[in-house]
Amino acid sequence: MAVTGGRPRLATHGLRVSLGGTGVLNGVDLEVGAGELLAIIGPNGAGKSTLLRTLDGLQPSYAGGVEVDGRPVGGYRRRELARVVSFVPQNDVPADDYTVRAFVEMGRYPHLAAWSALTAEDRRAVDEALELTEIEHLTARSMKTLSGGERQRVWIAAALAQGGTILLLDEPTSFLDYRHQVQILDLLGRLHAEGGYTVVAVTHDLNGLVADADSVLGLVDGRVEFSGPPAALFDGAVLARIFGSDFVLVAGGRHGLPLVMPARVGS
Ligand code: ADP
Ligand code: MG
Repeated sequence: MAVTGGRPRLATHGLRVSLGGTGVLNGVDLEVGAGELLAIIGPNGAGKSTLLRTLDGLQPSYAGGVEVDGRPVGGYRRRELARVVSFVPQNDVPADDYTVRAFVEMGRYPHLAAWSALTAEDRRAVDEALELTEIEHLTARSMKTLSGGERQRVWIAAALAQGGTILLLDEPTSFLDYRHQVQILDLLGRLHAEGGYTVVAVTHDLNGLVADADSVLGLVDGRVEFSGPPAALFDGAVLARIFGSDFVLVAGGRHGLPLVMPARVGS
């Protein structure tokens, strides 16, 4: 995988994870350089979410190596890791009722001393995150009343307020309509291109998020089936190997890449 010089910010070596007695990750090697955007793709059940959780130190037992900024992820204290890595899970409505501002403020918890209130610096980080994600007008709203696209931006705002410069996102554009998909893609593009964030996103959005990525990791059954730039991925045989389905490629995608879509019999 292309590393843009210097030490990788994230790395795994021969990573294996078993859940319920089954191998879910079966020897995954990856490296993500500083400022790089990595897209992780693969069929349902391939182990993509498990890989993200492991990179965020949330998988207690694994074999092989997982390193964040050159240090084993298990060697970080939880709060310390949370200041470096922010994880946006496949989100849903939180069980408890929060206003948008209160939810984004929770992103600051890794920075707060026990029982202490937000400092001026915490407030500044929250305000900046609200501004970057363009949700300032929503701060007083209940999370339960938001549209899916609005809620996704709030989750990203909480991750940004957290202050880490490595962002892990699990299917950030799934379930969004087209306008909201584009908003999230533009936001991630800005964070990556202008903000210097290192971004790892699990996605099925081949023509959007994958086409924008610096590199792509294709997982199948917990193994790396593909690793390389989007241009090498956009090949009918490669896509078929990953997804077990035929694809049609036509000219006209982003960055001079083809557009890809699943082929259907009789179309
Ligand atoms: P993906 O995100 O690629 O769809 P996941 O990482 O969520 O895949 O899951 C990979 C595999 O691990 C799936 O087969 C899933 O059923 C299994 N799995 C996930 N969590 C557990 C668990 N706690 N116990 C047993 N199997 C699990
Ligand atoms: Mg998943």
